[in-house]
Amino acid sequence: MHVLVCGGAGYVGSHAALVLAHAGHDVTVLDNLSTGHREAVRWGSLIEADLLKPETLDAAFARPVDAVMHFCARSLVGESMHEPVAYYQNNVAGTLNLLEAMRRHDVDRMVFSSTAAVFGNPVTDMIDEDHPKQPINPYGASKLMVEQVLRDAANGYGLRSVALRYFNAAGAAADEGIGESHSPETHLIPNALKAAAGEGAGLTVFGNNYPTHDGTCIRDYVHVLDLADAHLRALGWMDRERGAYQFNLGNGNGFSVLEVIEAARRLSGRDIPYTIGAPRAGDPPVLVASSRRAREKLGWTPRFDRMDPIIESAWAWHRAPAF
Ligand code: UDP
Repeated sequence: MHVLVCGGAGYVGSHAALVLAHAGHDVTVLDNLSTGHREAVRWGSLIEADLLKPETLDAAFARPVDAVMHFCARSLVGESMHEPVAYYQNNVAGTLNLLEAMRRHDVDRMVFSSTAAVFGNPVTDMIDEDHPKQPINPYGASKLMVEQVLRDAANGYGLRSVALRYFNAAGAAADEGIGESHSPETHLIPNALKAAAGEGAGLTVFGNNYPTHDGTCIRDYVHVLDLADAHLRALGWMDRERGAYQFNLGNGNGFSVLEVIEAARRLSGRDIPYTIGAPRAGDPPVLVASSRRAREKLGWTPRFDRMDPIIESAWAWHRAPAF
């Protein structure tokens, strides 16, 4: 298939492009390079376009596209609390423009990057797809709105879609020259590894008074290559199934912030100094996935199902990042 990877210069998108290319698909990347990296576009050509400038999108469809993977978004929980309108604009209005371009060009398949943030504060230990959706930050709310749009588009004109709700993406494909690189970096694992390498302004733990065993937030970390593999499987799913589907993607294991820091210390063999700071607005205490549906329906089995190899692969990238 010829797959248009929107946001393919970014972290998850570039790993999806890699996995698609290795599976024999033809990739074109659309990206505005606002946060993505030209160097991360290593599979397929790059079309610089912006979802908020609809007139720039048609160029990406010049060669017939079989399916779109849509990774373009602003995706920082904390930032979304302070910049809500930018989040709705980018993530909702931008997606509407992309959907219209797809319709103009008769493309009827989309794999959409959604998030665990659609759920808000969990009411069960393991979050499955039917868990109530009450996002507590504009980032999660913007993604949930798009999920609704995709359902309506399935009913309205037969758009096929799969929304993949990532829990915490982590790790890298350092041997392929891609990995996680944000500026500024806000995520826990890269920040812990930067602290291990003696880089950055120092690590802060955002709150140690949550109702968890050590007081810090618990998250479910899933390797970015496992996420990419789920995207590949979603393409096959849309071949078989009409309609709009959602799948949660995580390993089903929760790790606290302090446990992640301890694993990063152990695996890097370096000290990781940190201070305890205020909680970050918009953070639920615990987010752990049940990915049973993805396992059963997509045949998805994460290859990196333990924390150590996830952090090792992130550390391999951080020791020698290509960008
Ligand atoms: N976190 C932290 N210090 C940091 C970055 C993150 O304590 O420098 C915490 C954050 O509050 C959350 C968890 O680590 O509880 C994971 O945050 P991250 O930003 O990596 O991913 P998110 O859960 O926001 O997708």
